[in-house]
Order: sequence, then C-alpha cells, then structure tokens
Amino acid sequence: MPITPVIFPELVRALIAVIDANAAEVTELDQAIGDGDHVFNLQRGLQALQQHAEEIAALDWPAAWQKIGMTVMSAVGGASGSLYATLFIGLAKHGRDQAADVRGFSEALLQAVEAVKQRGKADVGEKTMLDVLVPAAQALHAEAAANSALPTILARLRQVAADGAEATRDMVATKGRASFLGERSKGHVDAGAKTAQLMIAAIADVLDN
Ligand code: ADP
Ligand code: MG
Ligand code: MG
Repeated sequence: MPITPVIFPELVRALIAVIDANAAEVTELDQAIGDGDHVFNLQRGLQALQQHAEEIAALDWPAAWQKIGMTVMSAVGGASGSLYATLFIGLAKHGRDQAADVRGFSEALLQAVEAVKQRGKADVGEKTMLDVLVPAAQALHAEAAANSALPTILARLRQVAADGAEATRDMVATKGRASFLGERSKGHVDAGAKTAQLMIAAIADVLDN
C-alpha cells in the first residue's frame, strides 16, 4: 500500500508519545549542555502539527511538507524549530508526490538534509541532530537504491539512527549552545540527536505495521 499523507495524524500521535515518554531523559541531556528547553520546543511543534493533522492528511506530499514546515516554523522557537522547518520545506521543494516511491523520497531527503546543513552552517561530527539525520538519509538512499524490502529499510534506519545518537556522546560540540562548553560538552549525548533518533524509531514502528 502506498504511503500517503493519510498516515500523518497517526505519525504525529506516535511522535508525541515517544517524546513524552522520553521527556525527562532528553531534558536532562539538554540541561547538561544546553538550556533545557528542547523537549518543550518539540512538544510545541508537535502540538501545532496535531492541530493541523487532518488538514495535512488531505494534501499531496509536496503540499503537506510545505504546510508541515510552515507550521513548525511559526510554532517553535529555538534552533531545532528552524532546522526542522528547513528540512520539511526542503522535502516540499525537492519531492514530487512520491506516494509509492521510496527512492524518490530518499533523494529529496538527501537534498533537504543538505539544506539543514547550510541553514545551521554545520555538518556531521559537530554533536547535533545532523549526526543522526545525515547517516539516516544516506542509509535510506542506499537501501532504496538496492530495492530493499520495507522491513529491511526500517531496521537499518533504526540501527543507523541509534548509532548516530550514541556517537555524539564523545564529540566536542562546535555548533549550538553546547559549543559554549567546548571540551566540557563531552560525555553527554546531544539532545537534538537523541530526539531525532527517537522520532525515526517511532516513524519506523508506524510504517512497520
Ligand atoms: P536551542 O538550542 O535554541 O535552545 P533546542 O534546544 O530546541 O534549541 O535544540 C537544540 C538542538 O538543536 C541541539 O541539541 C542540536 O542537536 C541542534 N542544533 C543546534 N544548533 C545546530 C546547528 N547549527 N546545526 C544543526 N543542529 C543544531
Ligand atoms: Mg535548548
Ligand atoms: Mg532555547
């Protein structure tokens, strides 16, 4: 069955649930090396998306991504809000209505992640959400190119995202608030990398069923 925006309300419910379930742990991470508001920022964005979920479900993918990006942009302050908005607007710009086309989506995602890099002037290895988003986008692209079955793709995504989040633990932050701490940012997983991983895993669970 093709994946269309009809699935969007269910995805948002799953994202809200996973962020709520891990709120204390993630807030501890953002308090250790950031300003402690990351969970609040994500929850604001997700609540706004939930309010528009039925409307978004009726759109095609490019229009849905555009609406998702604009909604996140206006609802969320903080670095993560503008970076996720950039990701979604990038998907709107580069994607077609790829309802049944994982390969097309994976190409759009690579370009959208590239836009996030430019927006934040950051790349992998700087202890941010990019340490999860970049390898996840690359893995999706590789699996799609290999025509892997959906369960294989989703298992790979979960693994790559988990590895990417964990890898931030020993990195020194060079972007965002954590960079103010320099060497002292070492020893904590980045909050934005952790929530990116949690959300990828939650999306994978929805798509697996
Ligand atoms: P803020 O840092 O403005 O309080 P959040 O707490 O919501 O915003 O988000 C912080 C997260 O955003 C960080 O943990 C990191 O993953 C991500 N981040 C911060 N700056 C950048 C950047 N320049 N590029 C990519 N990701 C970044
Ligand atoms: Mg913060
Ligand atoms: Mg903040």
